[in-house]
Amino acid sequence: MAKSAPRIAIVGGGLGGLAAAALLQAEGYSVHVYEQAQTFTRLGAGIHLGPNLMKVLQRIGIATRVIETGVSPDRWVSRKWDDGRVLLDFEIGERAARRYGVNYMMVHRGDFHARLFDAIRPESISLGKRVVEIDPIGSAAKLAFEDGSKAEADIVIGADGVRSRMREVLLGPDEPQFSGQVAYRSVFPAALLGRDFKMADCVKWWGEDRIFLVYYITRAHDEMFLVTASPQAEWPHPTSSVPGDLDGMRAAFAGFHPEVQRIASLCPQATKWAMYDHEPFPLWSRGRIVLLGDACHPMLPFMGQGAAMAIEDAAMLTRCIKASPTDFEFAFQLYELNRKSRTASIQEESRKNVWLKDSADPDWVFGYDVNEEPLIYPDKR
Ligand code: FAD
Repeated sequence: MAKSAPRIAIVGGGLGGLAAAALLQAEGYSVHVYEQAQTFTRLGAGIHLGPNLMKVLQRIGIATRVIETGVSPDRWVSRKWDDGRVLLDFEIGERAARRYGVNYMMVHRGDFHARLFDAIRPESISLGKRVVEIDPIGSAAKLAFEDGSKAEADIVIGADGVRSRMREVLLGPDEPQFSGQVAYRSVFPAALLGRDFKMADCVKWWGEDRIFLVYYITRAHDEMFLVTASPQAEWPHPTSSVPGDLDGMRAAFAGFHPEVQRIASLCPQATKWAMYDHEPFPLWSRGRIVLLGDACHPMLPFMGQGAAMAIEDAAMLTRCIKASPTDFEFAFQLYELNRKSRTASIQEESRKNVWLKDSADPDWVFGYDVNEEPLIYPDKR
């Protein structure tokens, strides 16, 4: 089969799905993305882009634009929740550029998604297409959408996030569990904190069982992102997020340092998110279907590496399809073999919630270049 012959459908136009589309298109593959959302909006969240993720953006050709959009933080500062004692003061942005050849970045998630969207051919994505069924048997996989339409593909990449329908098709119902922790998230103008307000580009406050992280997300330092984690016994809502009650957030951080109180009291709105977790899923592919990102390894966000793992997956899957263009099942086997141990280690470390708390030894995470890693083959293990 010619390299460009397989028709590849990607279910989910999130961070991992768009990265996969850009990388596969650059290699000459025919790709179509099906995304359930009717439009993409600049939803309020920030995101950390570690050097390991930024290396993939260099390959896609959007690293420079992302660097121009966001903040390469001067320092990552960890502080104790009550007296503000500094637990770690780590030079991070420029250090990453020197050590790994690319910056560590913090950006608005919507701006980042827009840069990825710009990297794919506009005609190769259909919005408002929620996949409800997939029949992987036969000479092609058949996709059925909620609106009654249908499509066919030779390979289907399930990049449909933490509540993946594609995973359900592969493994049956086995939803990630609510972890007992919630996150309040808010993007707001930095000017709201007052002219006299000063902080390092990224500051994380550590309590016994809760954290409060705040950082700048635009190059001009005019927009900030606040994200917290705190315990909550149950998540009674059918959706992963709900409008956040500011009083609830402020109450969760009552007693924290006055600087935290000030930010919490001036923050104008927030959303509240359930945090999900799951042990690594055993099966990532079957027949013509393969999963990537949160669909196959949902993780707690405490290392800021969830999107990075989805995007590394996209790069490794592209390499494996290239390495085995006529035998998809072998390509998927290679992909699983070359990804599972790294994503499982990051899942486990994220669960500990001590990343960059009072010491920093991030080379094993940030120094990984998915494009340069030698491929492991089954017979060479
Ligand atoms: P997603 O980006 O969730 O995309 C899934 C897409 O699939 C969505 O667009 C969805 O609409 C679509 N979809 C779903 N079902 C269907 C269907 N049936 N048909 C069609 N389309 C469908 N990661 C980082 O790297 N750095 C961070 O700083 C960071 N901070 C975080 C903070 C919090 C509070 C949380 C909760 C997460 C954070 N993450 C972070 C994690 C990161 O957001 C996810 O790991 C990442 O978005 C996963 O990418 P994905 O492509 O697998 O899924």
